[in-house]
Amino acid sequence: MEHLVIIGNGIAGITTAKHVRKISDMKITVISAETKYFFSRTALMYIFMGHMKFEHTKPYEDWFWEKNRIELGFGKVTNVNVDENLVCLENGQCITYDKLVVATGSVSNKFGWPGQDLPGVQGLYSYQDLQLLEENVKYTNHAVIVGGGLIGIELAEMLHTRGVKVTFVIRENLYWDNILPKEDAALVSRHIIEHGIELKLATNLKEILSGKNGRVRAITTDKGEEIECQFVGLTPGVSPNISLIKNTKIETNRGVLVNDYLETNIPNVYSAGDCVEFKATKEGERNRFEQLWYTGRMHGEALAKTICGERTKYERGIWFNSAKFFDIEYQTYGFVSNLPRVGEKISYWVHNSNKRSLYLVFKEDTRSLIGINAFGIRLRHEVFEVWIKQNKKIEYVLENLGEANFDPEFFKKYEEEIISKFNEENPGSNLKLKTKHFSVKKFITKISV
Ligand SMILES: Cc1cc2nc3c(=O)[nH]c(=O)nc-3n(C[C@H](O)[C@H](O)[C@H](O)COP(=O)(O)OP(=O)(O)OC[C@H]3O[C@@H](n4cnc5c(N)ncnc54)[C@H](O)[C@@H]3O)c2cc1C
Repeated sequence: MEHLVIIGNGIAGITTAKHVRKISDMKITVISAETKYFFSRTALMYIFMGHMKFEHTKPYEDWFWEKNRIELGFGKVTNVNVDENLVCLENGQCITYDKLVVATGSVSNKFGWPGQDLPGVQGLYSYQDLQLLEENVKYTNHAVIVGGGLIGIELAEMLHTRGVKVTFVIRENLYWDNILPKEDAALVSRHIIEHGIELKLATNLKEILSGKNGRVRAITTDKGEEIECQFVGLTPGVSPNISLIKNTKIETNRGVLVNDYLETNIPNVYSAGDCVEFKATKEGERNRFEQLWYTGRMHGEALAKTICGERTKYERGIWFNSAKFFDIEYQTYGFVSNLPRVGEKISYWVHNSNKRSLYLVFKEDTRSLIGINAFGIRLRHEVFEVWIKQNKKIEYVLENLGEANFDPEFFKKYEEEIISKFNEENPGSNLKLKTKHFSVKKFITKISV
């Protein structure tokens, strides 16, 4: 019987295993050094904030794996030998595979700052990081978080809920303005400050200083400031975890290099999830990284078919993502650049509460929708997916906004405001709301034609 070995039991590795089991009887072993059972990494913050217990973050009961004949190995893989099809663990055990999937995830970035390895300094990625945070918070009245991405803001919220004073040090001019348009970045930055977080913008960490007890006591910045603190959270992004693979014959660059079928340069070795680097297929394109929960799941779904003999290209479809910044939900569909690109036009609406906004990007010539960012308004994924694919014009999108609204009763009052603002800013435009309510029946008929 063929043996599939998967290194990494995150969303990418586990989705691959589950989907292979749906189609095939092959032997499946999943190995991880973090936790024996798969858990939802995105829910780590809720454990810390007391909303959930670790047990609740496991999407499957412990009996599921045995019932589905997915063997779980707990231990660190220290060597992969692709000539002999062998995977060896720290405890000396070696396992032979016929097919191998590398799904080793990411590691938190550290940029060689003096003091970055002091007690009281850490990143937030793994379950072990969460345990360390529980320990570190015991010593902490004032925390500094360095690096303003999605994990940084989660860590700020987590510590804030425990009554810790938080200073958020980021090098950008506004929170996440390397990704978000300045209007959106300003909205989130204001929200962070409203929550009592001290936000230090355009500031770089210089050094982390230790106290008499050997733990962190302060940081210094490139603005000449010294900030007293007992904890430093380093959250300047993540990188593919390829330390295991680097010294093998599997080709790597910043990640494990794969084609669009998630195949590596070694015929029976594949890779999926955060650790992969997709090789560019067209001239002028750059290699791609996809370090998200839902893309990891989609990698696993496509890869399972390829492993079972139905070679399947991974196709991401329309880009989307979502997050929560304290109380404000964020969704993005399609392509929204932080700075408008040539040939793009913007329509922006913000509610006077400063907690809800829509940022729509469309083509100046054809007026077709390219992307949308929504804050504080929940949109229907399936509607935007179709509208962007079908190149719907901005006028159509605005007139039919009700169809895309997830909570029509709650949010419909904003639709009128959004459309009036567009009419005011576009002389000659006299758009009127058409659809007030989402109709599943109508929508299904529409997408099936
Ligand atoms: C705090 C936090 C919040 C997040 N929130 C979101 C969110 O809201 N939305 C979103 O889309 N994404 C979010 N992400 C990102 C998302 O969680 C990741 O993209 C996703 O979990 C990656 O899945 P993966 O299967 O590729 O890898 P991982 O989940 O990292 O799994 C890889 C596993 O492989 C194991 N492993 C690595 N090397 C070895 C080895 N040598 N031997 C044995 N085991 C090994 C690791 O220990 C790990 O358990 C968040 C990430 C973090 C850290």
